[in-house]
Amino acid sequence: MSRILELNYCPRCGHALEDREAFGRVRRFCPACDRIVFRDLKVAAGVLVEHEGQVLLVRRAVNPRKGTWSFPAGFVEFDEDPAEAAVRECREETGLEVEITGLLDVIGPEPDGAASIVIVYRARPVGGELQAADDVDRAAFFAPGEDVLPPLAFRATRVALDKWRDSQPRRV
Ligand SMILES: [Zn+2]
Repeated sequence: MSRILELNYCPRCGHALEDREAFGRVRRFCPACDRIVFRDLKVAAGVLVEHEGQVLLVRRAVNPRKGTWSFPAGFVEFDEDPAEAAVRECREETGLEVEITGLLDVIGPEPDGAASIVIVYRARPVGGELQAADDVDRAAFFAPGEDVLPPLAFRATRVALDKWRDSQPRRV
């Protein structure tokens, strides 16, 4: 799936769009409405759930990157608070109720990623029962050591895990 989806028709009137130079780059333009049609960002939100020095990962049961692991995450609905989206995705994918404890990182687009922006929160479990569901087929906690992590799904997964690992107290 391409990150930048083609935009062929005006979302307001349905007229075929054209290219036009505007605000410093070529953009899509509707001649019927006489207006530039700006592309929307696709925003995803997720959680790094920490528990006893370990972090929760889920294995993707769907493409892209089926069989690889990421933190619980998904797209933010257009009218949804990203923190609530992250908590919701975690509940849907792992059965765990989590509480956001802070913002870990905001990660930009990657070449074959589906999201333009991934907002990653820190969270801790506050209830529920760990069980993979929705679009993941496994959910488990992992120690932060590089050698014990399963194959990771996205650049954002690695960026977030690196940042989380760097913030951990050093172990003897
Ligand atoms: Zn139009």
